[in-house]
Amino acid sequence: MKITFSASELAILKKIGTAAEELNMPCYLIGGFVRDKILGRETKDIDIVCLGDGIKLAQKVAGKFDHTPSVNVFKNFGTAQIKSEELEIEFVGARKESYEYNSRKPEVEKGTLEDDQNRRDFTINALAISLNSSDFGILIDPFNGLTDIEKKILQTPLAPEKTFSDDPLRMLRAIRFATQLDFSIAEKTFIAISENKERIRIVSAERINDEMNKIIMTQKPSTGFDLLYKSGLLKIIFPQMVELVGAEYIDGKGHKDNFYHTLQVLDNICRHTHDLWLRWAAILHDIGKPATKKFEPGHGWTFHGHEVVGSRMVPKIFNQLKLPQNDKMKFVKKLVELHLRPISLTRENITDSAIRRLLFDAGDDIDALMTLCRADITSKNRQKVTRYLENFEFVIRRLAEVEESDKIRNWQPPITGEIIMETFHLPPCKKVGDLKNVIREAILDGEIVNEYHAAFEFMMKKAAEMGVVP
Ligand code: ATP
Repeated sequence: MKITFSASELAILKKIGTAAEELNMPCYLIGGFVRDKILGRETKDIDIVCLGDGIKLAQKVAGKFDHTPSVNVFKNFGTAQIKSEELEIEFVGARKESYEYNSRKPEVEKGTLEDDQNRRDFTINALAISLNSSDFGILIDPFNGLTDIEKKILQTPLAPEKTFSDDPLRMLRAIRFATQLDFSIAEKTFIAISENKERIRIVSAERINDEMNKIIMTQKPSTGFDLLYKSGLLKIIFPQMVELVGAEYIDGKGHKDNFYHTLQVLDNICRHTHDLWLRWAAILHDIGKPATKKFEPGHGWTFHGHEVVGSRMVPKIFNQLKLPQNDKMKFVKKLVELHLRPISLTRENITDSAIRRLLFDAGDDIDALMTLCRADITSKNRQKVTRYLENFEFVIRRLAEVEESDKIRNWQPPITGEIIMETFHLPPCKKVGDLKNVIREAILDGEIVNEYHAAFEFMMKKAAEMGVVP
């Protein structure tokens, strides 16, 4: 197996080899960098394992650069990191690990290269390349990781039950790598994941969502979510999503399986956006369906209000998954709530005011919303898909026309709360909000023009009707 390094990588690897030799400390490239090189994937993280003190080696290596890079030392972990150009090089001494049942933090002791390869999660991540002058570039592959890369298989170097029980995060890593690399998980390994699924409870929500987000950022996240579901992990880490699984039948009438529909929407949207949060909106767009599902005789299955119920579920789900409770969450919540609105605008004879209203409600997120709506078309009937897409093109044209003339996207009504309070000598109170709302609604409905004087006059009239006097 010939692994090719770029000239700059080779120069750095030679520096590391020389520094290690001066310290009489054999060292090896290991893990993801080796795997990705073999796979021809772009990679910037280099992991170096040495038979000795990784921190000392990092410091020695830093001295070999013309502009000595700074060394970040993590004493507690016995590791050190150097950043050079765009590469991040991490150094660690070879170690042997043993685990307590209640923790995924191992007891660590010095070990051999073999011990270090044994503690790796998958055979494809346990490959090492020597950086020592006697055999520079030789691949050390005790678990046939190279064959597994060729066969596109993920399996653990040692017994999978023990590997996953020791550190249950590895179960998610298996599914993440399977999704990222389009590999399959060996049967024994997958069975061990299913059997150890409960162990995931000792992993922090942050680590879980980190892996889940990596799955979501792949080209085809459905692969990962399907594996999460089939292994039983999804039920534990994100039970609301499992509620979407399955189709119920009454009087021969069924509804679509909302889990697989959601996964299709997610894959669809991934072809059009790399925005993690828009991808999350796809995952959550129908999350309110199970709670709103009803069978109406003579009519069939309905999910009335699922967009409102779903959007209310978003903050709780974000909190539970330790996703940020900030603008990103609000963006997802808003998209879930609005995801049916463009469909209602595909009917003929839609008024400008309905279009204005959506522009106002969606604001700058209107393009993201339309991307979600297009991804939501999952019919197998090609003609239908073409028709629905054309309908959305029509809505997009109308949105552009109305925006062009009315500039509603980032619009603020010409009468502010301050103006209302000043005019009527009011403190901040409900009346101020009510007046502001009626003015805004009148402008969006086209009842009055979007202009200060018209709005002021309208305010005076409405205030008089409401018994508010200056
Ligand atoms: P990526 O950078 O895409 O996450 P990677 O394989 O480089 O992939 P890292 O998390 O950087 O992943 O880990 C580097 C190496 O450390 C892995 O290739 C693997 O050998 C080992 N490793 C990481 N996490 C674990 C773990 N939880 N259990 C066992 N080995 C691990």
